[in-house]
Amino acid sequence: MTEPQQPQVLAGQKALVTGGSSGIGAGVALALARAGADVVVAYYSSPDGANEIVAQIKSLGRSAIAIKADISKPDETRALFDQSVAAFGTLDILISNAGLQRDAAFVDMSLDDWNQVIGTNLTGMFLCCQLAAREFLRRGPREMSKALGKIVCMSSVHELIPWAERANYAASKGGVKLLMQSIAQELAPKRIRVNSIGPGAIRTPINREAWETPEARKKLLELIPYGRIGEPEDIGQAAVWLCSDAADYVTGQTLFVDGGMTLYPEFADGG
Ligand code: NAD
Repeated sequence: MTEPQQPQVLAGQKALVTGGSSGIGAGVALALARAGADVVVAYYSSPDGANEIVAQIKSLGRSAIAIKADISKPDETRALFDQSVAAFGTLDILISNAGLQRDAAFVDMSLDDWNQVIGTNLTGMFLCCQLAAREFLRRGPREMSKALGKIVCMSSVHELIPWAERANYAASKGGVKLLMQSIAQELAPKRIRVNSIGPGAIRTPINREAWETPEARKKLLELIPYGRIGEPEDIGQAAVWLCSDAADYVTGQTLFVDGGMTLYPEFADGG
């Protein structure tokens, strides 16, 4: 049986997804392609994963290429955008998704743990957003999108919820919140929309130990009122909507996709 066709709300648009070879990024890359976009799958460490996602996108009838870049490095990030524009002519959508954790008790956290997480999750986000905005402004309007360009920052429920032994990660996502809102404010007059998605617990390699064993899964589910762990497809659907003209009046927002994790579930029985 063939999959039902999805509305092609992103038909003809060109998207770049960082961290596109695994987890949420792979799910978003596939969802964008199903909605009609061609996709650059930017990857860091897994050419096999990236090539697999590229093959799946091509089987949907869309164009896709895999490009390697460490987005914490300005020269590699610039080369990623240059190669993407050379391949596709321009970009309409950035999904700035690449991120990592280096967990440690605060008193033991090394400067390297701190710098690596901030360097990718926040500085890398800054570099990618800046290069995307420059490309939207260089190229000017296109008929297939009301906005000049769309940026989605992959934040986290931890832009809101403090997280012990992950001060570097929570600080990076808290930084993403005001980075996103500040550039959304600045770029709105240019008709560039900038939003974040705040995933809750999504089943990916980054948090394998939180869902792999039945005991860990039970503990995790206590934090999720909706009663299931999220899948990359849940984030993919949200990204498609945020990038589509259906969300043309939405900018500067974090859309939490978390099964209610940010609803203070510990107060559900009166606290
Ligand atoms: P993941 O580990 O599968 O994906 C992270 C991706 O980022 C990987 O492909 C990795 O190679 C890439 N990456 C890491 N450092 C990089 C660098 N310097 N340059 C380029 N790419 C780099 O995990 P995921 O869960 O899919 O994470 C994707 C994003 O979602 C991250 O920003 C993460 O913080 C966020 N997030 C995940 C969850 C969750 O529950 N899985 C929850 C909230 C937020």
